[in-house]
Amino acid sequence: MVKITRIRALEILDSRGNPTLMTKVTLSDGVIGVAKVPSGASTGIHEAVELRDGGTRYGGKGVTHAVKNVNTVLAEVMGSVNPLSQKDVDESLLKADPSKGKGKLGANAILSVSMATAVAAAVHLKMELFEYLRTKVIGKNAKYLLPVPLSNVINGGEHAGNELAIQEFKILPIGAKTYPEGLRCISEVYHTLGKRMIKRYGRMAKHVGDEGGYCGYGLKHTKNALEEIVGAVEEAGYSPGRDVVLGIDAAASAFFKEGKYTIDGKKLDASELLEMYLDLERTFPLQTVEDPFDEEAFGDFAEYVKETKIQVITDDLTVSNPEIVKRAIKEKAGNALLLKVNQIGSVTEAIEAAKIANDAGWGVVVSHRSGETGDTFISDLSVALGTGQLKSGAPARTDRVEKYNRLLEIYDLLDGKCGYPGSKFRTDWRNY
Ligand code: PEP
Ligand code: MG
Repeated sequence: MVKITRIRALEILDSRGNPTLMTKVTLSDGVIGVAKVPSGASTGIHEAVELRDGGTRYGGKGVTHAVKNVNTVLAEVMGSVNPLSQKDVDESLLKADPSKGKGKLGANAILSVSMATAVAAAVHLKMELFEYLRTKVIGKNAKYLLPVPLSNVINGGEHAGNELAIQEFKILPIGAKTYPEGLRCISEVYHTLGKRMIKRYGRMAKHVGDEGGYCGYGLKHTKNALEEIVGAVEEAGYSPGRDVVLGIDAAASAFFKEGKYTIDGKKLDASELLEMYLDLERTFPLQTVEDPFDEEAFGDFAEYVKETKIQVITDDLTVSNPEIVKRAIKEKAGNALLLKVNQIGSVTEAIEAAKIANDAGWGVVVSHRSGETGDTFISDLSVALGTGQLKSGAPARTDRVEKYNRLLEIYDLLDGKCGYPGSKFRTDWRNY
């Protein structure tokens, strides 16, 4: 039986220049699996715990303790585990750190081993990662669906230094027939938007935020950003509502304080903010809203779901945690789950959260973090799960584009024989 013979982690930097882990798992046949762990900025309070060193080195963000935990405790544990059983791999990892949120050894340490072992197992079996995850780990057939990209073209909130409270303004290329056509669409709209913003607001508008979207220089209000995007969609030769619909991630916890949401120069209570979202839906081809309220406001999420027909995604509310996802489903506090593997800290638990959401009829959007690396695990995961949606930022900056490029590669590997669920989002906005 193949075994893990060596595990080696090291401290590397993420796309914001903060330390994170890269871990290599070597199998007895010499195969190596590598994984690099991402890191969020607008993190939910119930997320699994990243182990950081503290002190002054790297402003306290060093991960040398997490690295040491991989190279000692986890390397030892994994020596006797079957790397071809992801369930056994993750059970052993969870047993090694049963603390709440995996804070003892670090969810970043644990996830790096979980992902790198899956990568090594796929290589050992001479399979592509998406194929291995789908058929061997999830146990589904080899029918593949590529995701619609939710591409964040204007950054705000915690991800950019501007006046926009809303964190992400996204475009979804729903009119495309295939994933490559969809990717081309977001690239064309992105560049058109850039030129438009420079013309209107000057060269400062060319700068980008943490996820490669424009920094929103000159934009004062939520509506200004959405107007610019709709204008860019049209200028690029696409039809808003038919070819491209819009999404936002409010990440509302970041602008919630003492019962009020500070947005667009106003302080709103939850019902006024809900009215604002409904107004945006009437004014723009908005089809998906993420984290519209504070991360503990299950009731306000549920009110929104009752009032709307569009996709309401839970991110900070559910933090990819199977138990919290169950609560949100029970309370009808959303209708789609944002899935971030590092929020929960192991591949098996992330898949379980997706399965729970899917079984309840919820959508699932596989997602990057604002602090990323060149790792493309999430592209393969989105295809393996068949979620039909992936958010990976703007079509700019290598940390974002690598994920989109990996999907082009998967499309090619499948000879184009895969679905693309763009039309699922078709909207009757302005009679389209
Ligand atoms: C998000 O909130 O969906 C996101 C990607 O940002 P972060 O990684 O900062 O949580
Ligand atoms: Mg979010």
